[in-house]
Amino acid sequence: MPEGPEIRRAADALAAAVLDQPLTEVGFAFPQLKHYRNQLIGERIIAIEPRGKALLTHFSNGLTLYSHNQLYGVWKVVNAGEIPETKRDLRVRLETAERAILLYSASEITVGPREEIEQHPFLQRIGPDVLDMTLTVAAVEQRLLSPAFRRRQLGGMLLDQAFLAGLGNYLRAEILWQAELAPQHKPQELEPDILQRLAEALLAVPRLSYQTRGQVDENRHHGALFSFKVFHRSGEPCERCGAMIERTSLSSRPFYWCPVCQK
Ligand SMILES: [Zn+2]
Repeated sequence: MPEGPEIRRAADALAAAVLDQPLTEVGFAFPQLKHYRNQLIGERIIAIEPRGKALLTHFSNGLTLYSHNQLYGVWKVVNAGEIPETKRDLRVRLETAERAILLYSASEITVGPREEIEQHPFLQRIGPDVLDMTLTVAAVEQRLLSPAFRRRQLGGMLLDQAFLAGLGNYLRAEILWQAELAPQHKPQELEPDILQRLAEALLAVPRLSYQTRGQVDENRHHGALFSFKVFHRSGEPCERCGAMIERTSLSSRPFYWCPVCQK
């Protein structure tokens, strides 16, 4: 399952292909969306924004396309006019003079005014996206201490998209290692400085992963690069304390941690 950083990089690649270029062709497979074609030709895509596993494609005329890939949906970037050979069902085609982005197989696709799309039940259900760069440490601290989350164990809560959208299994392990916390804690039992450290890690780890995961540290002039400290590293020594990293199961998913320095 892709997590927030991978989803956002995929969205960036779509945006890089078509952003701010006038749409020359638009196609929708679903009959109830076909009438949007004429409203969108000549308009531009002004932003492609992930919200958890949903994607919002915002157009210059105030309309927004909501899509959720579920298990099968996939976006592709192609050259203008190109029709790839595939057995998948093409659902959306957004084409500019140079490039087109195509959505295949997704079944949850809606178009509407941006304000209306924001009311979509899925978007109402999930928390703020962890890679929303306007999200602050203070806001995350507040969310940790809110009635809905203050009594939840961190291990399960960090996988709940209602808390913060975009967190998944590798980020859960890496965030708790960064915050030096065992997964059984509940926000309400944490001292203020520990709570702040957790809130900082909840933002810093996904952001570093988004910005640098997979890059090779050739010149060391970019600052820190993302690397797994515990995820898939059971049996290796902890970088912070030297103890052995362990693999266990938590909320039915594999969990990796250092039982010595994560208290
Ligand atoms: Zn350790």
